[in-house]
Amino acid sequence: MCYRPIRFHAKGQIVMKIYDSIIDQTIGAAKAAGANVTRYNPSLCWPETDRSELVMQRDAAFELGGSGKASVNYTCVTTEDSFDQDEIWISGTELKEIKGDVSFGRVVILKTDEFENDETAFAAIRDMEFTRYHVFPKGYMVRVSSTSFEERVRVSKEAVKEGISLSKVGASYIKRYKAVPGVKNVRIIFFVDQNLDALVPNAKKVDEITKALTHILDGLPTDCGHCSMKKVCDEVEGMKEMHLRDRGRKM
Ligand code: SF4
Repeated sequence: MCYRPIRFHAKGQIVMKIYDSIIDQTIGAAKAAGANVTRYNPSLCWPETDRSELVMQRDAAFELGGSGKASVNYTCVTTEDSFDQDEIWISGTELKEIKGDVSFGRVVILKTDEFENDETAFAAIRDMEFTRYHVFPKGYMVRVSSTSFEERVRVSKEAVKEGISLSKVGASYIKRYKAVPGVKNVRIIFFVDQNLDALVPNAKKVDEITKALTHILDGLPTDCGHCSMKKVCDEVEGMKEMHLRDRGRKM
């Protein structure tokens, strides 16, 4: 896969393009699976709790990504103009139709303002990463693995009885993301009971890019020869230029 570069606006703004190839591939997979698209409506958000709610196994209706089924989770950022709506895409079945544990993917695409400088870009990415793990829908216990990039969700019988749906949970996520400064539009894509083989490698790649990006934006030393991010910087066009610009260093 070819990764497109970060480009610099004439005024020095940082234009985020590095995730766009992964975004294109993810959207292609969702379309191929016949994703159902719903426009975000804040009045349809599912209720949230203050912290992660414990759903005991005996109280669970099913697990998304449970029983060893595949699961994947990643978040991409773009400044692409075509992302001008807030939408929930569901590829596969809605929660009310699920009879047992199924595979599960959740991908978030954030359209942001063009960042003015490294500091605002760094702060925005940090806030987005925080939000990723701090949405707590009622009766929807999320367990994440930062090493395998999986996300498993135990959904309570009571929540199913009360009408929980991915459209409503997706709306809750969108509401929280839209509160992050710089985020203009959000698209959340759920993959339910689908083959995730093509998406799983994206999560690792997105994580590598995000780590390298935060390293760069944090103003850390520019010694490529001793940097753990070298592999991703060699692969993603524009990363090195971004870190080494104005420093007169040889790449
Ligand atoms: S440009 Fe060099 S120093 Fe900066 S993150 Fe990439 S490999 Fe590391």
